[in-house]
Amino acid sequence: MEIMVAKNAGFCFGVKRAIDIAEDVAKKNPKKTYVYGQLVHNERVIEELGKKGIEFAEKIGSIPNEAITVLRAHGEPGTTYSDLKKKSIISGKNLNDATCPLVTLVHNVAIKLKNNGYEVILFGKRDHPESIGTSYHLQGKDTFFAESAEDALSVVDYITSNNFYKVAIISQTTMSVAGYDKLIGSINNNFEAKFEKMQLNLADMSNKFVFVDTICNPTKQRQLGTEDIAKKADVMIIIGGKNSSNSKELAAKSRSIGVETHFIQSQDQLEANWFKDKEKIGISAGASTPDITINEVVEAINKIA
Ligand code: SF4
Repeated sequence: MEIMVAKNAGFCFGVKRAIDIAEDVAKKNPKKTYVYGQLVHNERVIEELGKKGIEFAEKIGSIPNEAITVLRAHGEPGTTYSDLKKKSIISGKNLNDATCPLVTLVHNVAIKLKNNGYEVILFGKRDHPESIGTSYHLQGKDTFFAESAEDALSVVDYITSNNFYKVAIISQTTMSVAGYDKLIGSINNNFEAKFEKMQLNLADMSNKFVFVDTICNPTKQRQLGTEDIAKKADVMIIIGGKNSSNSKELAAKSRSIGVETHFIQSQDQLEANWFKDKEKIGISAGASTPDITINEVVEAINKIA
């Protein structure tokens, strides 16, 4: 049996940075540090940080006034900052922002497109914290979402029924590259005008119907690495947190190649029968999966073999 681990599997720089920020703040403020929401979408990482004295609050109401607070990697809507300010939790004082710089970049793209007269449509999951943060800069709850390539016709319908003059489509950082291509292709096949690609620097705003590639490079690298080994493997194991968008996309990518795929959080979910009569085992992991979890899975499969 051969075990292949995908290139770039595991932590991306944005996740590492968020964990470093939280650990650093907690070290300086033992037993007094709060994180608002899941810092990153991985249960084990959250558990380990909890052991270091960090408190996780799902609601702002659960954070005490003036508490030393860290904001998660996925970014936040402006209302989070104003609500925290009411509790005297303020950037530069006791608020430590671990928003990934690549998420901030998407916020800035959204703001600039909106300010230049574009109706901005978001390719993303409407309940994902990153999308909630980005949609705050657009139309809040009324932001129009395409959650998958299958939503192309409703996008066309939304544009035509509102007679929008300028429309831009952007993406959540962790969506499927192939899914985004498919969405744009399908919209172009069904709409009177063609959506042209606008560069990320937004230097040329002359086109009225545009899309911007805001899927982050670490996500693209993980999707490519997964595709590469899924094409050679007899069975694929994708490791990632239950709520991790980029991990779920890796599992979907692997399944789209036609290989048997199992999505797990840890080695104890492995089943021996998955590996019966299999020669090549592929392993990939989402951007918030720690190396230790990947190594444990490799070790457990070796034992089964
Ligand atoms: S997946 Fe991309 S946007 Fe999200 S934290 Fe990692 S680098 Fe940042």
